[in-house]
Amino acid sequence: MEDLHALLRHHFGYTSFRPQQLAVIEHVLGGNDAVVLMPTGGGKSLCFQIPALILDGPTLVISPLIALMKDQVEGLRGNGVAAAFLNSTLNWSEEEAVIQELIAGRVKLLYVSPERLFQQGFLDRLDTCNVRLIAIDEAHCISSWGHHFRPDYKHLKVLKKRYPQIPIIALTATADKAVRQDIGRDLGLISPRVFISGFDRPNLSLSVLPGQNRWGSIQRILRRHPGECGIIYCNSRAATERMAAKLKAFGIRSASYHAGMGASERAQVQDEFISGRSHVICATIAFGMGIDKADVRFVIHYNVPGTVEGYYQEIGRAGRDGLPAETVLFYSYADVHTHLHFIQEIGDPRYREVLMAKMERMKEYAEAQVCRRTILLSYFSEDTQGSCGNCDVCKDPPSYFDGSLLAQKALSAILRSREQMGMSVLVDVLKGTRSPEVQAKGWYRIKTFGLGNDISAFTWTLFIQQFIQNGLLEVDYTDHYHLKVTRVGEAVLRGERPIRLVTPETIKERQAGPVSRTAGPNSSEHIRDEGLLAHLKNLRRGLAKGMGKPAYVVFSDASLMDMAERRPSTIHEFRLVHGVGDHKSRTYGEQFMKAIAEYEEAGVPM
Ligand code: ADP
Ligand code: ZN
Repeated sequence: MEDLHALLRHHFGYTSFRPQQLAVIEHVLGGNDAVVLMPTGGGKSLCFQIPALILDGPTLVISPLIALMKDQVEGLRGNGVAAAFLNSTLNWSEEEAVIQELIAGRVKLLYVSPERLFQQGFLDRLDTCNVRLIAIDEAHCISSWGHHFRPDYKHLKVLKKRYPQIPIIALTATADKAVRQDIGRDLGLISPRVFISGFDRPNLSLSVLPGQNRWGSIQRILRRHPGECGIIYCNSRAATERMAAKLKAFGIRSASYHAGMGASERAQVQDEFISGRSHVICATIAFGMGIDKADVRFVIHYNVPGTVEGYYQEIGRAGRDGLPAETVLFYSYADVHTHLHFIQEIGDPRYREVLMAKMERMKEYAEAQVCRRTILLSYFSEDTQGSCGNCDVCKDPPSYFDGSLLAQKALSAILRSREQMGMSVLVDVLKGTRSPEVQAKGWYRIKTFGLGNDISAFTWTLFIQQFIQNGLLEVDYTDHYHLKVTRVGEAVLRGERPIRLVTPETIKERQAGPVSRTAGPNSSEHIRDEGLLAHLKNLRRGLAKGMGKPAYVVFSDASLMDMAERRPSTIHEFRLVHGVGDHKSRTYGEQFMKAIAEYEEAGVPM
C-alpha cells in the first residue's frame, strides 16, 4: 500500500493526520463500511479523498449540497486532483462531458446530488465505470428524526443492494445516537464501524451571555473583530433583516440570508460572504450547510437554538482554519418559550418528546456553571479532560453568595399571586413598579411589593433564572408560562434549605469580555508582521479574482499566516508552509516568494 502520509503531504500539504482519519482511511481501503462522525470542519473529506487517490477506479461522493459540491471540487482541483461534479446546475452537454471523462477513467472523485444519481439511467452508465468507493456525505439527511431529513436519501439503500462489493463510507456532523443507528440501517451497511472524533474544537471560545441588551454586547464583540467575518444566527426572517440593517448603519458590510429569499439572491449573498466582500451575515439556520469558509472569526446566536447538535454545527462554522474564533450564545427564557410553543404544536407525540428532551439539553448547556466544553463533548460521547480554559466558565469561575433571603422574597410574592405571575411581572412586584398588570391585579398589596428595589431589574432576572435552574421554581408551559413554586422552593421559603447564587458580577464580567484569543494550534501571537500578511492577502485576492474563484482556492488564511511567518525564499522552503502541496507550490510558489522578497526589499519595518 502506498504511503498515506506521503499522499497527505503531496496533495494537501499537511504533515499529520487528525485523530481517526488514518484509521478510517485504512478501514475503507480494506473494503469495509464505515460511519464517520466528525463535526463540521473536522476533516471528514480527507477520509474518502485519500482512498480515492489510491483506488484504481473512481470514488462516488453523494452530497445534497450543491454549493458544497462546487467548493470541494474546486478545492480538489486547486490541489491537482481530478474531480468533477454532476448536479442540476449543469446543462446537458456539460453533464455529458463529465460522464465521458468518467467513462474514460479520468475522474478520481465524482460528486453527485442524490436527485441526479437516480435520474434517467445514470446508474446503468455507472455500472461500467468501475466505481471503487461510495462516500455519502451529510448522511444524517437519511434520518426522519433529524430536521434535515431528505426523502431522496431513503433511496440510497439501493446502492448497497446494487453494489454489495463496493465499500460505503457515510459521513455526518450529527452525532445523535438515534440518527447514528438510522444511518447504518437505512443505508443497508454491512457491520459498519463507527468512528467518532474531532468534536473538540479547542480554537473556538465558548460563552453564553444573558439576553438583555444584546445589541450592546454585539457591538463589543464586533469591536474585537474589525474587518473580520462572522455569522449572526437569528430565529426569524424579519430578525435577520433588522439585524443586517442595524449592522449596516453601524458601518459593517453585512447582508441577511433566509429561506424566504430567492435562490439567486441567496447564492449572491453566499458568494459575497465567501469572497469576503461582505463581512457579517445575519441568517436563519437555512444558512451555513455547505458553506466552506475557513476564516469565519465569530458566530453569534442571537436566539437559543433548539438542539445542541444544531448549535454545535452552527458554531462549528467558525474557525475552520484552526485559528482562534469566538462564539457567543444569547440566552433568554423568552426564546426557550418560543421553541416550546412550536414543539407543543407537533402532532406526533414521540417526535414531540424527542424535541422536548433536546431542548432540555440545550437549556442545561446554556445555564451551566461548569466547563461548557465538557458538556458539549460528553453530549457527543467524546472523552474530555476536565476544564478547557477557553470557555466563559473556565475563564471566570463563578463566585457564589447565599441567596436564601432573595429567593424567599420572590417565592412569597409568587405564592401570594396564587402562582399567576410570569417572570417580568414578578420583577415588577419585587421592584415596586406599578405596571398595568400589577395595577389591574392589585398586586401592589402583596407583602413583598417593592422589597427588592435595591436590585436592578436586570439583576433580578438573572437571579430568577437561577431559582429556576436550581429547581425552586418551574415555568408552567401549559399555564401561560406562569411560575410555580416547587417542593424545593417551599423548603427554601421555610428556611430549611439554603440556596447559593452566582454573583451578578461574575455574569457581568463575562458580558464585558473580551474573550482572550488564546488556544488553537496556530495562535495569532506568532504573527508579528501584519503588513506582510496583508500584502500576501492582496496577491491572493488578485489571483483568485483573475480565475473567478474564491480566495481560499488559492490559499487558506492559515497558509498565508504560516507563509508570513516563515518567509520562504526557495521552493523547498515554500513546500514546508502549512497547506501547501506539490501542485500549489508549483502553481503559486514563485509569485508568492516574489511578493515576500519585494516586501522585504521595500524596507518595511520588520
Ligand atoms: P468537514 O468535516 O466539515 O467535511 P473538511 O473535510 O472540509 O471538514 O476539513 C476542514 C478543513 O480542515 C479543510 O480545510 C481541510 O483541508 C482541513 N484538514 C483536514 N484534514 C487535515 C489535516 N490532517 N491536517 C490539516 N488540515 C486538515
Ligand atoms: Zn471550559
